Amino acid sequence: MEQKHEYALVFRNHRHGYEVQATAKLFIPHVRFLLCENGEIPEDVPNYILTSCEYTETAVKCEVDIRLGTSSCKRSLAMLNPCQPHTAPDVKSSEVEYALCRLLYETLQDMTGYTPPWGLLTGIRPVRRVIQLLDSGMTPEQASRHLQERFLISDEKMQLAMDTALIQQPILPHSAKEIGLYISIPFCPTRCSYCSFVSHSMDSAMQLIPDYITYLCKEIGILGEIIRKYGLHVQSVYIGGGTPTSISAEQLRQVMGAIRTHIDIAGAREYTVEAGRADTITEDKLRVIKEMGATRISVNPQTLQDSVLEAIGRRHTAQQAIDAFLLARKLGFDDINMDLIAGLPTDTFEGFADTLERVMALDPDSITVHTLTLKRAADLYSGSGEHHIAAVERMAELSAKALPENGYRPYYMYRQKNTVGNLENVGYAKEGKENLYNILIMDETQTILGAGCAASTKLVEPNGKITRVHNYKFPYEYISRFEKLMGKKDEIEEILERMQNGTGGAADAAKE
Ligand code: SF4
Repeated sequence: MEQKHEYALVFRNHRHGYEVQATAKLFIPHVRFLLCENGEIPEDVPNYILTSCEYTETAVKCEVDIRLGTSSCKRSLAMLNPCQPHTAPDVKSSEVEYALCRLLYETLQDMTGYTPPWGLLTGIRPVRRVIQLLDSGMTPEQASRHLQERFLISDEKMQLAMDTALIQQPILPHSAKEIGLYISIPFCPTRCSYCSFVSHSMDSAMQLIPDYITYLCKEIGILGEIIRKYGLHVQSVYIGGGTPTSISAEQLRQVMGAIRTHIDIAGAREYTVEAGRADTITEDKLRVIKEMGATRISVNPQTLQDSVLEAIGRRHTAQQAIDAFLLARKLGFDDINMDLIAGLPTDTFEGFADTLERVMALDPDSITVHTLTLKRAADLYSGSGEHHIAAVERMAELSAKALPENGYRPYYMYRQKNTVGNLENVGYAKEGKENLYNILIMDETQTILGAGCAASTKLVEPNGKITRVHNYKFPYEYISRFEKLMGKKDEIEEILERMQNGTGGAADAAKE
């Protein structure tokens, strides 16, 4: 049966639908709009947002016409036509797009009474924008003023983005030979209700794990040959998932042993294993992780409220997460991250504040605060899905205030589409404990070689061009089509060859 839409987005005489939709979603998230590119308002949809452009030889008139429930509003603005001598709407002008989106933003702001904390900015990498402006010669004050005037970003968010950029700037890489290495272990003991990653619960994937590890070690060997052949230097290693500690201590030893055997990581600045869920962390696994050279682990409680842990389908208590952290400390781990999530189902502002306080009392080296993402595929979305945006905004505000007061500085940040309240994920760390891999994955100026299913290799060329080579998503595909997959390494080598023979490096790409 065809789904009945409650909201329509009508585009008339322009090609800025993507950005217009992103702007509308700042105010009306989590609805599926009926997109009408023919410019006609559908009769059977109760709410609509019409955006239109009217071109003359010298001018453009942008107009919005909105009906939301019982309120409606029409506004327009006129500007010089930046597309002369082209007057037709098939010319995509960024200035017309900006003017149209800003008009829509301000109209929706007045109609709803809501001010998005990141203003008009819809991209996921605000820090990258700040660094680009700083690199272009602007002072921090000039860059902040420019971004706030153009995108209407709140003072708090601008400060967060600027603080993060200033910490990142000196850490960013300077040579194309420096790379990151990502190893994927995509298994978890059970699936959390909010999860939207490709992870496979142990129950269904148990029999695949031994073969998966055999092939993963083979792929690590192949990457090792590529790294040697092109004289690359591994700067950071990240074993992520899923939950890498879902596998046994011996299997962890096998994977980390393959890395040690095939890849020179002696010069790496950091080596992380995402231990993740407390129900997978044991003393023997932590000992293997340490013995095999990892310098950093993550113990991710997400919340220290038992009722919330139960609501999200985790089979461990808050005390188990605390015990796992204390055990890791006892075994000598001096760089431990803890992940928290703001906006989990059934959690409250008070619950989050209590979690934050107890986690800070443990004194981990870094704390990452995510904002819950609602993806259509996750179980939660088809459940109640009722979250209090204001409470989540307060959770993010509390983190931004309390963590710096306790010695944690924001060092990486990214926004995800469909996050509650259009908020961000922020990594806070004590000085010197910033995780390079996390910075680089968002900065996109360094090549990262990936191994394992759902991993991808990202090659950054001197001109800034990025090529992604994806591995298969599911373990059974990864195992059964391994030889075919390894054929894709030719593509990786071709690009590395080009980079070797070309000029410049990642640092040049960063300047693009
Ligand atoms: S631990 Fe992480 S990857 Fe695994 S199911 Fe939960 S949210 Fe998903």
